[in-house]
Amino acid sequence: MTTAFVALGSNLGDARGYVLGAFDALDRLPQTHLVERSPLYLTPPWGVLDQPAFVNAVARIDTALSPHDLLDALLRIEREAGRVRDGERWGPRTLDLDVLHMEGVTMSDDRLTLPHPRIAQRAFVLQPLNDLAPDLLLPGQGRVNDMLAAIDAAGCERLP
Ligand code: ADP
Ligand code: MG
Repeated sequence: MTTAFVALGSNLGDARGYVLGAFDALDRLPQTHLVERSPLYLTPPWGVLDQPAFVNAVARIDTALSPHDLLDALLRIEREAGRVRDGERWGPRTLDLDVLHMEGVTMSDDRLTLPHPRIAQRAFVLQPLNDLAPDLLLPGQGRVNDMLAAIDAAGCERLP
């Protein structure tokens, strides 16, 4: 089993419901267990600013899936949540699931880069990741709590 961290995000329809449903879907994947879920955060849009706020969270899982099999499983969960890819990058979506990190894995090909290359700039990822693993060292990027301290996370509002 390998420890992995998955980022969850939604900003269409019942965004909170999509994120909570995705935690359950992760736990139902073959050869995979959900170990811990972060708190949920309401966060300002990133990249494309003219869209609704997001609900974001991070899951810690244990999995025996390969990196590519895990990515395929996440893309299938996104499709089952009704995600339509219309080509607009960083636009609104019912569900976005990204692999942030898999223990011991550093790789990059045309489908998958690990660790996820944009963690250091994203408060909506670093805030919930810091709740689960503040001391985690992401190869090539740094320690989670150091990266969070270096950015402005004031816009991330923890949901009850
Ligand atoms: P984003 O998550 O950046 O908003 P998408 O969800 O549309 O964008 O993802 C686009 C593609 O990014 C996916 O089809 C996938 O092949 C690729 N990708 C590369 N690295 C990763 C990763 N670590 N986690 C998830 N997707 C990744
Ligand atoms: Mg994605």
